[in-house]
Amino acid sequence: MHKQEPFRNKNNVKAVTEKIKRLYPGGSRKLMEVCGTHTMAIARYGLRDLMPDGLKLISGPGCPVCVTPVSIINAAMAISEIPGNVIVTFGDMLRVPGSEKTLEVCKAEGADVRVLYSVFDMLEMAKKEKDKNFIFISVGFETTTPGIALSVLEAGNRELSNIFYLVANRLVIPAMDALCGSGETEIDGFICPGHVSVVIGYGAYRVIADKYGLPCVVAGFEPVDILLAISELVERVSNKTAGVANAYGRVVTEKGNVNAMEAMNRVFKPVTAEWRGIGSIPGSGLVLRKKFIRFDALKKFQIELSSVPDPPGCRCPEVLKGIMAPTECGLFGKRCRPESPVGPCMVSSEGSCAAYYKYGVDDG
Ligand code: SF4
Ligand code: SF4
Repeated sequence: MHKQEPFRNKNNVKAVTEKIKRLYPGGSRKLMEVCGTHTMAIARYGLRDLMPDGLKLISGPGCPVCVTPVSIINAAMAISEIPGNVIVTFGDMLRVPGSEKTLEVCKAEGADVRVLYSVFDMLEMAKKEKDKNFIFISVGFETTTPGIALSVLEAGNRELSNIFYLVANRLVIPAMDALCGSGETEIDGFICPGHVSVVIGYGAYRVIADKYGLPCVVAGFEPVDILLAISELVERVSNKTAGVANAYGRVVTEKGNVNAMEAMNRVFKPVTAEWRGIGSIPGSGLVLRKKFIRFDALKKFQIELSSVPDPPGCRCPEVLKGIMAPTECGLFGKRCRPESPVGPCMVSSEGSCAAYYKYGVDDG
């Protein structure tokens, strides 16, 4: 039997769904997931349809591509226009609309823009093509950031002077804190991200659970994983107990990956940063520490980031805060579709609007 089989098994889905219905205390409640893969999995497996009346699953700012400010995309495009520069990035970033165009269009117009699967590939490129500058658009949460940090350390060890990072990495806990603190979004509990938690450990959510009296439960990515987390959350909501729990015990530990956190903290330091749709959040972004500042693309190419409004009619800010379902946006499925996205939530493979569109979710 495949080791994931019990977590996909229909009988197990049914049993946990029945348990959720039995435990549900009634009334109107909202559980928020803050992970793009959860957004996709919930839509793909139709888990919303299995919930008891009144229990809503809402999506938060779970996709690193969606929360990257337009100013970063604009900066990447400006840097790509400088002769000898090569922009390297993960695939989804190519199609995110900047103020005037996308990196995909820049590439079609002749800019050297390359897609990577591992940031370490950039180190090899930089070694082979010494006459070019390689600029990595560094986005992601705690899942991807430690790997990027290791690449910075390695670039330093190899004394590569033609590598730069356009840093827009973000931290999950400060964003959850800001969402709860704003009072704009009604949240009764968090389905916490599986991969991020592998790195930060499930203990990291205690600050949120204690500060706001909200239960936080880490979930894996199979349907039964997610349902088990929901069941744990519903039980805690029903018993009025907050706290943290781990429903992804086969992968996540309380302390997480201490080495990965150390690498991240060695290279980056937290600062106040802008999240697309949410605004400025203290301690939620990362910048290179002084020792590694020579790798900073903004400094190297003297680019100032300036705040840019969202496209007219796009409701990504409300979608990212869980205030509005994607289907409530007037552009959803009309002017905004995966092949012609208006906002970032329709671009990324983990974006809420893309998930709702792909799986035909109607939760407005
Ligand atoms: S990297 Fe993993 S944990 Fe983070 S948002 Fe994506 S799927 Fe979720
Ligand atoms: S449907 Fe498109 S325009 Fe509307 S919120 Fe989503 S991404 Fe933005």
